[in-house]
Amino acid sequence: MTQIEEMQEEVQGTPLVPIDKIVSLSKRRGFVYPNSEIYGGVAGFYDFGPLGVELRNNIRRFWWWSMVQMHDNVVGIEGANITHPRVWEASGHVENFVDILVDCKKCKRRFRIDHLDPKNVEQNKCPACGGEFTEPRRFNLLMETYLGVVEGDRMKTYLRGEACQNIYLDYDNVVKSSRVQIPFGICQIGKAYRNEVTPGNFLFRQREFEQWDLQFFVHPSEMDKWFDYWKEYRFKWYQTIINHKDRLRFHEHGKDELAHYAKKAYDIEYRTILGWQEWEGIHWRQDWDLSRHSQYSGQDLSYTDLNTKERYIPWIVETSGGVDRTFLNLLLDAYEEQPDPMGKGNDRTVLHLHPWLAPVKCAVLPLQKNKEELVGVAKDIHKNLQRFMVTQYDDIQNIGRRYRRQDEIGTPYCVTIDFQTLDDQTVTLRERDSMEQIRIPIAELTMYLLDRVTWK
Ligand code: ATP
Repeated sequence: MTQIEEMQEEVQGTPLVPIDKIVSLSKRRGFVYPNSEIYGGVAGFYDFGPLGVELRNNIRRFWWWSMVQMHDNVVGIEGANITHPRVWEASGHVENFVDILVDCKKCKRRFRIDHLDPKNVEQNKCPACGGEFTEPRRFNLLMETYLGVVEGDRMKTYLRGEACQNIYLDYDNVVKSSRVQIPFGICQIGKAYRNEVTPGNFLFRQREFEQWDLQFFVHPSEMDKWFDYWKEYRFKWYQTIINHKDRLRFHEHGKDELAHYAKKAYDIEYRTILGWQEWEGIHWRQDWDLSRHSQYSGQDLSYTDLNTKERYIPWIVETSGGVDRTFLNLLLDAYEEQPDPMGKGNDRTVLHLHPWLAPVKCAVLPLQKNKEELVGVAKDIHKNLQRFMVTQYDDIQNIGRRYRRQDEIGTPYCVTIDFQTLDDQTVTLRERDSMEQIRIPIAELTMYLLDRVTWK
């Protein structure tokens, strides 16, 4: 699609949401805060607030459920953030995990060469002001740290630059301790650290972030089959949780982008105001990782087939994505400002988050807070629902304002307790996106909600 076609499409469709709107909503409503803000902040680090942590946990749990729990041949691990330093020599990060940067001599802006238009590089011309670039410089992204307390005896190592290395390190232990047989996968969700030289765009490029990885171990003859399986599975997974399905696509790596051992690789990309950007990578890793760790550690990491007795280093299909990019993309995908159709100033901001992932599933609202009968029933309903899902009890301000507050944080359902409730034991249930209201018996409420907010 050309740039003009893309712009035309935006005029007709829903406009792309500016990141600033998400930054501001996130801080105002307790999703994300800048880290160490009272000290002026530190670039590339964020903290998650009360709603952020709920959303994050839901995202993580849904991934784990679908990848580990729903696959008989996939197990999970949780590795440490620090490993033996040799790991990063074997993985190639010590030597090759570098960004090449240039600075503009005039406006002092800094650019990653691989993010610049090749024309600007060729003409040695800053895209912002036309100034000349400095000579390219190499920066290693690994974050160094030191183990031990005695000066001179301290061992230099690294905070992990990618989470997946633990999976290769634990592969042999998993094979020996849990009765998995090839083909099988190991999953992990964990923090990664990179000294990104150009952190920015909110959660998109941070220095501490969280990755989810599947490493799926196969016989070389089955590599194509499993690569296709996971490529399609992961694409559908993202499709399920977004509203704008047309903003998701594959980007196939060209020959110049492929690692030397990779026959093919795809990025799952999502389109935001930042353009088409990687969300997750599907990688053909062949036997590269296990062979390198065998070589560097001196341990034999080959696998013996129980039936055929064939011995070989398994090949790997990797799917590697980011919890934080998912968090950001979901907010960008869900955010909408809806003007009041009656023009009476009742505009609303809505987060159309999938009910499975929304941080609060249901708000319980007595129509009036000074009517004890209503408040009593509302608190009982809240107490009961809270055992099964995250709910909020709210009796501050009029009901319209309370609905708006819940819309803005993506709560899919609101339950209102009114005078009719006292007569017939029913409540009003309002759905966030359509704003439709139905009456439902209190006795049926829990099952009705569970059916809609629990993934399946
Ligand atoms: P990029 O090209 O954007 O730097 P990458 O190819 O280095 O990303 P991978 O090493 O494949 O990324 O990491 C897997 C996933 O981790 C990415 O698809 C992305 O979702 C996430 N990720 C990578 N770097 C960052 C970062 N600095 N901040 C937040 N998420 C990140």
